[in-house]
Amino acid sequence: MRNFDEFFLMSTVDAKRYAVEVLKYFTADEETVCTEIGDGNINYVFKVYSKKDGRSVVIKQADKLLRSSGRPLDTYRNKIEAAILATEAKLAPGLVPEVYHYDDIMFALSMEDISEYKNLRKELADGKMFSHLAETLSDFVALTLLPTTDLVMDRAEKKKNSAFFTNVELCDITEDLVLTEPYYNYKKRNIIFPGNEEFVKQHLYDDEELHCYVAKLRNNFMNKSQALIHGDLHTGSVFANERGIKVIDPEFAFYGPMGYDIGNVIANLFFAMFNKLYTSSEISEFIDYCKTTISDFFDLSFRKISEQYDKLVNFPLYKNADFKKDYIADIIRDSCGYAGTEIIRRTVGDSKVFDITSVSDAESRIAMERHLIKLGIDLIKNAANITCGADVLEML
Ligand code: ADP
Ligand code: MG
Repeated sequence: MRNFDEFFLMSTVDAKRYAVEVLKYFTADEETVCTEIGDGNINYVFKVYSKKDGRSVVIKQADKLLRSSGRPLDTYRNKIEAAILATEAKLAPGLVPEVYHYDDIMFALSMEDISEYKNLRKELADGKMFSHLAETLSDFVALTLLPTTDLVMDRAEKKKNSAFFTNVELCDITEDLVLTEPYYNYKKRNIIFPGNEEFVKQHLYDDEELHCYVAKLRNNFMNKSQALIHGDLHTGSVFANERGIKVIDPEFAFYGPMGYDIGNVIANLFFAMFNKLYTSSEISEFIDYCKTTISDFFDLSFRKISEQYDKLVNFPLYKNADFKKDYIADIIRDSCGYAGTEIIRRTVGDSKVFDITSVSDAESRIAMERHLIKLGIDLIKNAANITCGADVLEML
């Protein structure tokens, strides 16, 4: 039996022992069950629970090799995930799983089991409509983002944070997959649905005007260390039930533009809507729900960010009303731009979402993808003219 004093990738048997010996979550004689519940392509996630009373813990382990492709990926991502979850738990109590333990040797993060909440992407695909979604998602972004900026934090502290959260390899993934390849396919990894090759060439590869906007968004992503962002806030990172949400999987976190998180939420809500729009005939209620949720999420996020601003920002120059207005307008612009890049990359890039891939009728899929690409482009090109949720829906 191996000790936990040197890294190795755990099996379910190891994880059970880990929960006893390292976490001391169960006693040695307690009967437990462990299953590997990871459904992502990066890490391993073990759930261990007691047969006696059902108490459970989730252990997320980062291997040195990527689960899907086997290529190396820096395990520091696990430390970043543990640290940002702890920060978010303080800023937005109840909206993330509680971290119980972080292990620097095993690259294992042990946390609260949030199995009572379900993957939001899947719930939306099943047609579930949570009435709280605009409210809870906007709470998450408003409560977690602004307080980590140096408008609010001590500026030296923020610089230290920004160094700690430097996430070279995971940012590199975003810089390529999201902010480069859909427009400049230099790694030849794009997967274009047959029939859309010419459309993609014309609208994404050959549009110089679009490239200027995307270059700005890419440069902005790499240089604007504005706030501690989640970095991968799609609907598969949000778990929901009737009572609320839990946000998981912030391993892409770093100091970047706030609008990246907000834009990701908007884009992924659009995917849920487009899936129904192109697959189902009885759709009007769900489509209306998606539209209202997108629009309300947008408006509530910026209203709440503005309220947070008034409450938390004390530095006299930053209390200047025009500066505040510009600062928030800039976040709005970023949010629309990154909503656009997320929509486009999930459509033509190699990391797709099943909202898109599950549309099995080829003609519908071709039409849906063109519609999505146009929406993405419009959001990117018109970002500066969008001021409210209704304007976002106008882009449809
Ligand atoms: P990856 O980084 O590999 O994408 P995730 O953090 O998304 O891994 O976790 C993969 C899956 O494991 C999630 O989709 C979810 O089903 C499950 N999971 C992760 N964290 C928890 C948790 N705290 N409680 C319950 N299930 C979890
Ligand atoms: Mg992940």
